[in-house]
Amino acid sequence: MQTDTTGVLIRMLALAEDARRSQTSGGERPLMPRELISMVLRAMRVRDPAGLLHGQRIAVISSGVANLLGWTDEQRRQLEVAAILHDIGKLGIPDHILRKPGKLSSEEYDFVLQHQHAGVNMLQALHTDPSVIAMLTSLHHDLSGASHHTDSQVQTADLPLGPRILAVADTYDSLSTTKPYRRGMTHAECITALLEKSGQRYDENIIRTLNRWYETEGNTLFRLTEAFHSPERHTEVTPEQRDEVAMLSQFIQVLFQFQHLYDGYYILDPQENYCIWSDGMPGIIGLPIQTVLRRTWQTSDVLLSPLTEEQASPPERDDTIISQVMKTGRPHFGSRLCRVSGTRHLKVDVYTMPIVGPGNKLHGVVQLLRNRSGVRRKSREFVELQIAATRDPLTGVANRGQLESQLRYLLDDFQVHEGTRSLSIIFLDVDHFKRINDTHGHQVGDQVLVDLARLLQHETYSAEIIGRYGGEEFVIICPDTDLEAAVRRAERLRQTIMKSSIGGTSTLSVTSSFGVSTARIGDSVQTLLERADSCLYNAKAAGRNRTCRESDLESAEHVEAPTSEEDKTQISEANGQYRFSDRITVSTSVELTGMKLRAFIAEYRGVFVVEEVGKMQIRLGSSGFFKTWGRAPARQPVEIAISYETTRNSSSPREKARIHRIVTVDIRSVGNVPNMDVFAARCLSLIRDLRAFLLGT
Ligand code: GH3
Ligand code: MG
Ligand code: MG
Repeated sequence: MQTDTTGVLIRMLALAEDARRSQTSGGERPLMPRELISMVLRAMRVRDPAGLLHGQRIAVISSGVANLLGWTDEQRRQLEVAAILHDIGKLGIPDHILRKPGKLSSEEYDFVLQHQHAGVNMLQALHTDPSVIAMLTSLHHDLSGASHHTDSQVQTADLPLGPRILAVADTYDSLSTTKPYRRGMTHAECITALLEKSGQRYDENIIRTLNRWYETEGNTLFRLTEAFHSPERHTEVTPEQRDEVAMLSQFIQVLFQFQHLYDGYYILDPQENYCIWSDGMPGIIGLPIQTVLRRTWQTSDVLLSPLTEEQASPPERDDTIISQVMKTGRPHFGSRLCRVSGTRHLKVDVYTMPIVGPGNKLHGVVQLLRNRSGVRRKSREFVELQIAATRDPLTGVANRGQLESQLRYLLDDFQVHEGTRSLSIIFLDVDHFKRINDTHGHQVGDQVLVDLARLLQHETYSAEIIGRYGGEEFVIICPDTDLEAAVRRAERLRQTIMKSSIGGTSTLSVTSSFGVSTARIGDSVQTLLERADSCLYNAKAAGRNRTCRESDLESAEHVEAPTSEEDKTQISEANGQYRFSDRITVSTSVELTGMKLRAFIAEYRGVFVVEEVGKMQIRLGSSGFFKTWGRAPARQPVEIAISYETTRNSSSPREKARIHRIVTVDIRSVGNVPNMDVFAARCLSLIRDLRAFLLGT
């Protein structure tokens, strides 16, 4: 960890040094050195293409609004760069949160926000113009503020104009974009929604200016939507690009750690130039970021004196901790009194760490400060716990619960789009893993799992989600990927695993078997996973170290097409109670049918009203506070009577008569139903799910 952090910091300081040179040599000074901004944009495109496009749209909107407000070209350029970089912190966030299709929980949201601060701190080291840094810092700080006091004491007037424009443009673009969990709003709806919240974070004048801008130039936005659907999203990522993404992501993670463990920190290069003055520093010392950026360190900037004496004047340069650490190359720990302002002092823990590379070369120094007297700013431990609940502790990838809930979101989205967008999964299991454990020990076994997870993370694209399903089983969810493409992905992973040295033992050769399935209309999480799992089983049976896919032939056998009779569904109404009937023909045994029905009920948290052989009555959904139907059809309570009986089908004389079981389903409404359409939608989705449970393998 220690050497790791040092390595990351050395690379960052090298970039900072290049940036500083390029910025001081040329005549005209760009807002950020050209190579660095292209590197950052490349990385953002790889990690989150939709996010980059979102930034570009905010840039267009903000710049248009600023133009109407009379900003100069130079000021508008600053605003545009800030807009494009506003989500820079997302580069440091693990995929399972970044790619989460659903809404973020408040803990995850806070986690993302903390990374945004770290990302903006990184931009300082990359010599981004102080005007851009200042805008982004107050944009994200205002968000932290708003999340602390929700009834918002935050007045927009306290916020400079730039961040206020960005805040409106950001929310406008988010609201108008369709997300997996909600539809995009129309322009008029966005403006209304923003105006409803105006006065706090959203400045009414800016909202009205945006509205004016949209009337004349709003169509420029439409040009910025196409990239979403362009095949470019799936182009291969070069190893160099992967390295850049990994490097920037590590910078941000290291800075996040500093910020997480301390209240403020700063980093100097060997010439004592400031590289980073963290956004926590002004809160401790009182010096705003703009006053230190692009200058060298002064002994009076951070005044630290022994706890026993309050020093008023700056010490001699050689007596400062910074100078001593730079001279000796040894870290320093201690508690000090830190001068805040005038005669006010704060007790702080100080950790000063030299950044020393190979050959004892000094690359810089970090000073970390923790406020000892005050309360901790926020219980981040809690956030960490929340995050931990979604991760596998050994490998750090998504755990099974998280994996299944992500898959559920994506499957819902798949069903909503009626299968027009594909979704596939890859199930992999290490071959003869038990043998690895037995021969090399459990620890080597563990290391194999950790290495394998790293390899998978390194090899997969940003949109893919990796999870550990169990022992030595991993699942990769591939959105927007059809069966053919997923099989090619699996094959590539298989080859890479085979050729890599995993587990750190040279005598060890690790291989894996793969099963691949793709989503169908009516699939549940279970059925989709089960199909991949049975393909995996086939791969094992066929000799391991291979990929098996579900074949279309096989699937045709498994799922019996609904007959026209089954499609005839009936809805009737009597005394305000609605009733919907349907039949599903299955060919599995009574026991298995019963088991599948129970699995269905468990998945939907149903309650039994009656349960007998061949017959059950269950209730699904909750009726809410007022015992009336909620707005979400998926929550509306219904009672389902299910009965199943055996029939013999002898329509084909040559074949042995096939045994069929007819499952009769009767769905009844509970409570008030606002209209038949809502009820019908609920019934149809339930029948679809039930059919998937009963027929999907
Ligand atoms: P196959 O090629 O058929 O998959 O054979 P296998 O030996 O890989 O499969 P099997 O399921 O028989 O054995 C899996 C073993 O994985 C058994 C279990 O002890 C081990 N295992 C499960 N979880 C862990 C873990 O977290 N660490 C280690 N080291 N071993 C684990
Ligand atoms: Mg195995
Ligand atoms: Mg196994």
